[in-house]
Amino acid sequence: MNLCPCQSEQPYENCCQPYHQNHRQPETAEQLMCSRYAAYAMQQIDYIIQTTVPAQQHQLDRASIEQWSRSAQWLGLVVHRHLAKISPSHAQVDFTAHFAEHGTAHQHRELSAFVQINGRWYFIDPTVALPSMKTPCICGSGRKFKACCGQFFK
Ligand SMILES: [Zn+2]
Ligand SMILES: [Zn+2]
Repeated sequence: MNLCPCQSEQPYENCCQPYHQNHRQPETAEQLMCSRYAAYAMQQIDYIIQTTVPAQQHQLDRASIEQWSRSAQWLGLVVHRHLAKISPSHAQVDFTAHFAEHGTAHQHRELSAFVQINGRWYFIDPTVALPSMKTPCICGSGRKFKACCGQFFK
């Protein structure tokens, strides 16, 4: 039995694989976060791209995501907090990802922001160029970025 890399203690085929194969959609930002971690560990690059806010997807560097996903050894994930109800369509997840690269162990703690669009959760990638605060939000809400998803990146 292959345990899921997200450390749920569940077999991969009952945990994140149905998300990676688009048979099921994460119902919470936390599930999306965990399934994205597992996607790095399982080199499911399409899933990492598809679960980023659609307006940001063209800014992602697929080759470097793929290289990073292969070169790191994925040692585990700890979710510290799931802030599920920041607004009706936003959530944050505070987590630490454990991985090793070139034989050295690293921990990466991050407070990630997620937005729900048409009932689906998406990761807002803070590493790509974000719009200016006064322009319409990347999530398509019709509000200014500042008053919507931008509130997490001030
Ligand atoms: Zn999983
Ligand atoms: Zn927004």
